[in-house]
Amino acid sequence: MDIEIPSELIRRLQKAEHVVVLTGAGVSAESGIPTFQEARTGVWAAYDPAELATPQAFLRNPRLVWDWYAERRQEMEAAQPGPSHYALVDLEQGIPHFLLITQNIDGLHWRAGSRELLELHGNIGRCRCFDCGTYAFGWDEEGAKPPSCAHCGGLLRPDVVWFGEGLPGQQLRAAYRATEQAHLFFSVGTSAGVQPAASLPLIARRSGAYVVEINPHETALSLMADCWLRATPGAVLPVLARWVMPQTEEEDA
Ligand SMILES: [Zn+2]
Repeated sequence: MDIEIPSELIRRLQKAEHVVVLTGAGVSAESGIPTFQEARTGVWAAYDPAELATPQAFLRNPRLVWDWYAERRQEMEAAQPGPSHYALVDLEQGIPHFLLITQNIDGLHWRAGSRELLELHGNIGRCRCFDCGTYAFGWDEEGAKPPSCAHCGGLLRPDVVWFGEGLPGQQLRAAYRATEQAHLFFSVGTSAGVQPAASLPLIARRSGAYVVEINPHETALSLMADCWLRATPGAVLPVLARWVMPQTEEEDA
């Protein structure tokens, strides 16, 4: 059964020129991807995040950090995009100015077909050189761990944002700019607790956007959002997408 969407939200969605969507772990979870904390099982339970996901950890023990991310990468590459991912592709196609900002590193939005996409925390499918920053999109999985940079011989690291690292400035500026222009802002499956992503809904609100939260769990945002849809992203986004797809928008009328 479809969830009931408030008519005010449908009205706003159908006339919105600028829409920004922020996604987080709740969307990845629907594809079976565990959070960082949930993945720390078995041999990994002995390590805390500071030993697996910081530049210091990589300098101290690059092999350990590489192995941790190699396992995560395998897990994420085996996962498939879900209904939320595909609905966001439909929304992108149905809305004149659309931007999807994700905190997820699994690359599933890209694989589903989203192209107006900012991967704020990077993408585990890519690496870059720890020393010179050159990107690498392929490497020998059977060779040295970590593999070396083809350009300078430095060590390759996953192109994800580690604890204690800043977010890529250019991406962050683009996220702020789009958020300030948004008529509608959706916060989807994220606890909205991690800065600077957590500030985006507040900036949207201040700039006059209608802010919608989609989350089965209450977060810091739930009560200040204009509309809180207390449901999983997969139950809501496909319904919303139907309202902006021109060929089907009459269906539910
Ligand atoms: Zn290099």
